[in-house]
Amino acid sequence: MKLIDGRAVAEEIKSSLKIELFELTQNNQRIPTLAAILVGDNPASKAYVNNKVKTCKEIGFNSLLVKLPSDISEADLLKEVERLNNNAEVDGFIVQLPLPKHIDEVKVTLAIDPKKDVDGFHPINFGRMAQGLPCYLPATPYGITLLLKRYNIETAGKHVVVVGRSNIVGTPISILLSRKTEVGDATVTLAHSRTKNLHEITLQADILIAAIGIPGFITEDMVKEGAVVVDVGINRVEDDENTGKSKLVGDVDFDGIKNKSSYITPVPGGVGPMTVMGLIMNTLKAAKKEIYP
Ligand code: NAD
Repeated sequence: MKLIDGRAVAEEIKSSLKIELFELTQNNQRIPTLAAILVGDNPASKAYVNNKVKTCKEIGFNSLLVKLPSDISEADLLKEVERLNNNAEVDGFIVQLPLPKHIDEVKVTLAIDPKKDVDGFHPINFGRMAQGLPCYLPATPYGITLLLKRYNIETAGKHVVVVGRSNIVGTPISILLSRKTEVGDATVTLAHSRTKNLHEITLQADILIAAIGIPGFITEDMVKEGAVVVDVGINRVEDDENTGKSKLVGDVDFDGIKNKSSYITPVPGGVGPMTVMGLIMNTLKAAKKEIYP
């Protein structure tokens, strides 16, 4: 078994981004700026946003954190989105999800200018992705393709089984890997909560991608010998030793599967760090006006 080390790959990308940033500044181009809107004080959302801001700082990008109270009205949040759409200093921005229940996430996503939608969630970017046009790829699927590429994992002609069909992970990664692209050309099966005989399907996977949100859902008996296993899940569970503390685990039973798989991503330290890099790379593309000249 080989470990797919997302932290190490993220560090490599950060180093190359620092060089690219140096070249940008040498050419008197402005420093890329990422903004993030954080509504309320959900601890997981706070941690994700802080991590994104910290990574910007590490590389030398500018960042702007807009913190808003959990009782902000939908109309006021939409005004903040509009402000960032019109702020020429901001190249790209994200609205950290989930939003409080009284706010319609679809409405907010639709309000983001696709040119600044570095999370790649806007239907314009999603549609462009599906048609193979230049776009901001959704950050997590983007990160997964970067990992597969970095480890020279062949996808062409392989059977990829994706479990989970969310708009931000399962559905876009299944589209990306089935397209005629460098990390693509795979035969993809998209499985979900209504899939029958899931075991039989996952056992056929050369590459198995789990994005479900249930700790340890994918067990050893669901994985083919030598399969590549990509665990997207991030689940907080109680620590085994009854210490009252919690820990992060994936959707895959890592210990049960690690010796059966050829490659496997750990949680934490696998897909997570690469999601942030996907976002940062989209921000650089936004600053360079690569997608929307
Ligand atoms: P989601 O929570 O929106 O949906 C879960 C999906 O799992 C659904 O499509 C559902 O059909 C499927 N599912 C649920 N029960 C199932 C079952 N019994 N059998 C088969 N499929 C089933 O999904 P999401 O937002 O993609 O999140 C999935 C996991 O990935 C979560 O743990 C989340 O925290 C994590 N996540 C991680 C990153 C990262 O950067 N690593 C990014 C996004 C999400």
